[in-house]
Amino acid sequence: MTIRTRFAPSPTGLLHIGGARTALFNFLFARHHCGQFLLRIEDTDRERSTQHAVDVILEGLAWLDLTPDEPPLFQSSRAVRHAEVAYQMLASGHAYRCYSTPDELRQMREQAIADGRPPRYDGRWRDRDPADAPAGVAPAIRLRAPRDGETVVDDLVQGAVRVANAEMDDMIILRSDGTPTYLHAVVVDDHDMEISHVIRGDDHLTNTFRQVQIYQAMGWAPPRFGHVPLIHGADGAKLSKRHGAVSVLEFEAQGFLPEALCNYLLRLGWGHGDAEIISRDEAIRLFDIDAVGRAASRMDYAKLTHLNGVWLRQADDTRLTADVLRRLRDRTDLVLDDVAAARILALMPGLKERAKTLVELAESAAFLARVPPLPMDQKASALLTDEAKATLREIAAALAATDFSAGALDAALRAYAEHAGKKLGQVAQPLRAALTGSTVSPGIDATLAALGRDEALARISAASR
Ligand code: GLU
Repeated sequence: MTIRTRFAPSPTGLLHIGGARTALFNFLFARHHCGQFLLRIEDTDRERSTQHAVDVILEGLAWLDLTPDEPPLFQSSRAVRHAEVAYQMLASGHAYRCYSTPDELRQMREQAIADGRPPRYDGRWRDRDPADAPAGVAPAIRLRAPRDGETVVDDLVQGAVRVANAEMDDMIILRSDGTPTYLHAVVVDDHDMEISHVIRGDDHLTNTFRQVQIYQAMGWAPPRFGHVPLIHGADGAKLSKRHGAVSVLEFEAQGFLPEALCNYLLRLGWGHGDAEIISRDEAIRLFDIDAVGRAASRMDYAKLTHLNGVWLRQADDTRLTADVLRRLRDRTDLVLDDVAAARILALMPGLKERAKTLVELAESAAFLARVPPLPMDQKASALLTDEAKATLREIAAALAATDFSAGALDAALRAYAEHAGKKLGQVAQPLRAALTGSTVSPGIDATLAALGRDEALARISAASR
């Protein structure tokens, strides 16, 4: 059997991290089993679906490198097929026409609630003679659901879950206006897309029983289901805006790397021993659905930030430089020319050691794109006493004749410190302030080398006046 999974988001809001994790699990499961990963946009709710939300889903998946193996399928394009299957069920006796009006259904509901019964359709058209059909009322089509026995789902995560068929009423599959209901459309699409495994959030578990009944009515083999527990906030409550970033693209804006977010989401609810840092290739090799836990997981931003720092240090310098330049692009206080880009690239090994997010990284690189005189932060300007300025002038003289490679610069600074009877820190600190406008930066020799002789001397001169 070819393994085929799908991610089936409704384009009614943002692509949140719960959805991203569902997509990731479907992707990894398919790749692990040499199968295919598909995308279906569930846009049957025309009122609430927006093109913007579709774009956000596609952009988010592309950013996470979870590109589907086939072009996305739009559920709304398949309404004719959904109706066709409903009529097949009607013809085979597995469905029937229901002429109950909205008013009648409301009364039925109110009566059931008043009697302390769950509000369910009472099946009044199930066995009624179609000749009784009232004139001028368009019927809905309802599933003739089994009334005895139980429906069992052997869930790959939750184990065997069952519900008595008496608990479920005859659901509508095709509304009186001819549009399919959501549960029906999902089944028809999953069947036609030859989906072998449905991996989704456990908020859909109750839908599964009804969906299985549709498979049975059509004589179709249902896929295997795996319902993954939801992601909660650190406080255990349902994840919401209150907990910080929840949209995938917000994580991008906040400076997280897609591989770090994927690594984090993978570890959230799935484990492989103590392994924390897991690359995409390793994840494909190791992932299987049986190691997904049953407990809801909690979002831990501190842990994600830590992982991000680890991935950042491993990331390619050219890629990070491009990201930094993009993030600083609109800063009017900087000059982002090729010279600045080359400086940022040169210092990237040192910069990325100190940053936990791309936002921090960009901020820490900004000084390289400044034009002297540099703005000084409070600590830096406190360092620049008259004595320090005198020291800076001496350092400038010493550096004027030095080769601007990190090794030679280090040696020159040490020699100057020794000659002047100063500690290296007394030399490096005012120098760092002059070169960067702050008191934190990568090693002073690497910083000098990245700036180059002319720029370094210009900055020292501006700061020591
Ligand atoms: N469209 C549903 C959602 O966005 C998913 C349905 C499914 O995976 O079957 O929650």
